[in-house]
Amino acid sequence: MDCIFCKIANGEIPSNKVYEDESVVAFYDLEPQAPVHVLIVPKQHISSAFDIDESNSAVVAHIFEVAAKLAVSLNLADGFRVVTNAGENAGQTVKHLHFHLVGGRKLGREA
Ligand code: AMP
Ligand code: ZN
Repeated sequence: MDCIFCKIANGEIPSNKVYEDESVVAFYDLEPQAPVHVLIVPKQHISSAFDIDESNSAVVAHIFEVAAKLAVSLNLADGFRVVTNAGENAGQTVKHLHFHLVGGRKLGREA
């Protein structure tokens, strides 16, 4: 499948990785919107949050565990945000589920 985040997950395309285990990878966003902007991505291809169901939701719980650990290791004790964009109105540009972990500055109501 021609999917950029699948290719990052399997190492075909390089990325600046901060975390990896058997089911997820986390790497720095190419166009950071905050001093810390990491994407946490399941290795399994899931197109968007519309496609989370009982068969694959365990990896989403795991992603939030990884986010909590990264918030410590990336010095986000003052606060962080985890967000996923699903579909056109949300501005989803990459059609592989990913969670933005952002922090390092005071965040507005949208970021
Ligand atoms: P979204 O707009 O929510 O679909 O987020 C996609 C994000 O992926 C954007 O913030 C892009 O900057 C980021 N992005 C796209 N390609 C890459 C890449 N090769 N490496 C790192 N981040 C990327
Ligand atoms: Zn994919």
